[in-house]
Amino acid sequence: MLLRHTSKEVKVREGLTINPAKTCQPIGAMYAALGIHGCLPHSHGSQGCCSYHRSTLTRHYKEPVMAATSSFTEGASVFGGQANLLSAIDTIFAVYDPDIIAVHSTCLSETIGDDLQQISKKAKDDGKIPEGKYVIYASTPSFVGSHVTGYANMVTGIATQFGVSTGVKKSQHNIIAGWMEPSDMREIKRIAQVLGVNIVLFPDTSDVLDAPQSGKHLFYPKGGTTIAELKSIGDSLSTLALGSISAEPAAIALEKKCKVPFETVDMPIGLSATDRFIMVLSQRAGVKVPDEVTAERGRLVDVMCDMEQYLHGKRVALFGDPDQLLPLTEFLLDLNMKPVHIVSGTPGQQFDKQMRLLLNERSPETNFRNGTGADMFLLHQWMKNEPVDLLIGNTYGKYMARDEDVPFIRFGFPILDRIGHSYFPNVGYSGGLRLVEKILGVLMDRQDRDALEEKFELVM
Ligand code: SF4
Repeated sequence: MLLRHTSKEVKVREGLTINPAKTCQPIGAMYAALGIHGCLPHSHGSQGCCSYHRSTLTRHYKEPVMAATSSFTEGASVFGGQANLLSAIDTIFAVYDPDIIAVHSTCLSETIGDDLQQISKKAKDDGKIPEGKYVIYASTPSFVGSHVTGYANMVTGIATQFGVSTGVKKSQHNIIAGWMEPSDMREIKRIAQVLGVNIVLFPDTSDVLDAPQSGKHLFYPKGGTTIAELKSIGDSLSTLALGSISAEPAAIALEKKCKVPFETVDMPIGLSATDRFIMVLSQRAGVKVPDEVTAERGRLVDVMCDMEQYLHGKRVALFGDPDQLLPLTEFLLDLNMKPVHIVSGTPGQQFDKQMRLLLNERSPETNFRNGTGADMFLLHQWMKNEPVDLLIGNTYGKYMARDEDVPFIRFGFPILDRIGHSYFPNVGYSGGLRLVEKILGVLMDRQDRDALEEKFELVM
């Protein structure tokens, strides 16, 4: 009983978060920056922040995560970190030779008031940025938002600082990836290829954080959206943002700057959200959905029908990030399961509105909260009051699952205690297949574990 102090009685808490269902902005910014080819993320703050963010990403992806830091000490903490960042830019280009440095701020540099735009401009004016190299930046104060906000801020920085309109349109469509796994980004590209749609996906961490073992360490792996691709996004015919919280802000900014019209769809997790993604993408590009994709869909529907008798009515608690929770909840409802409790530490009225719209229509009795007070402690309390059959969330959920003796599926970020998860997509019809297979697997394992000898069946 590691969480034995979690009380059943829910009291109103203000100004106190216990076991937050989120982490801090710069992790998201660092992750997004790794989705540009040849990019070295740079943390403008103390070494401790940078180490924490790198180690969390490394523990999740089981890959080395390179990033630099402004290494604030007492002086920079009081007088500002401009000198540190300028000297870091010099050193990084001289020693590590990236194509681009993506700088994000931290609590400390934001509190001091360092202006990354001004420092980046000074670096350029002082000739510290070599020809053909770039420094981009995003403000990521961690005392607001979450890792998802940090991701959205860096992706917006990428879109606005690279996107230019030359006036000549290219026959291509942008897809802005919300926070998803490298395997998900690879799957999005595969689907676009099967549909025959020419896309620029950004950011793209496939072949960066799931690069194959080659026996050689590459400081800059072969994956990532290239600078040439990023420079072309302002000339694309349209943009599709996958997720209203982590991807849409970049699409809005690009539309404003380069007049590229955008549409936002949910991250394609599960049947309905994938249907919408495929339809919107094919309509935008004016292509027919090929039989290959229809067959993939048919396989998922077939498995969902086969599983319905086991999944129907099963009660689920879930926590995680907005753009994933929304389509995941819809998928559970499509499976006739009951999402009983939903929590996300990421604040935002837009997500609150979208989730409540879905729940009001299809599951009005569900407990849902995001932002202030929406933490894992609250979720645990809800689970004590209204027990569930399954918990879905990141690694931190294992403590609640153990205490309440509930089957648990690791989903979202971070997953620190398992290996290989980031190699299999959650998006698309194939991602949906994997998800339902995992869900039924843990439920049947539990049924087997609890079955009396005479009820322990070979065929279930
Ligand atoms: S919350 Fe702030 S101080 Fe803590 S690791 Fe994140 S950026 Fe650094």
